[in-house]
Amino acid sequence: MDLLIEHTPVCCATCGVLFTISKTHRSHLEKSEESFYCPNGHKQYYTNPLRAKNKQLESELARLKDDRDWYAKRASDRFNEIEHLNKVINGYKGAITRMKKARESESVSKFMKGEGK
Ligand SMILES: [Zn+2]
Repeated sequence: MDLLIEHTPVCCATCGVLFTISKTHRSHLEKSEESFYCPNGHKQYYTNPLRAKNKQLESELARLKDDRDWYAKRASDRFNEIEHLNKVINGYKGAITRMKKARESESVSKFMKGEGK
């Protein structure tokens, strides 16, 4: 049975002391971003660049979804506003048509009575 454990050197980011940890433990620390201490008690941790990039992308995705929702709501509001204005326009068109018919009917009536010119 081989009990040899491979170690890797670590240099404290604060005091610069050099110490070793097992490669397995370092790999775990790099992936988990858990904090650890140098022999002099300085707290430190590895940052996982992929995890940091992932967090940045998730944040950007959330912002883009918020933007999309805002624009979708705005488009929906504008669509409803246009539909309302079309109904108002149709109402005016109906009123104009009724006024024209009333005026024509009034002209015919005057003509029949000999008042029209
Ligand atoms: Zn240290």
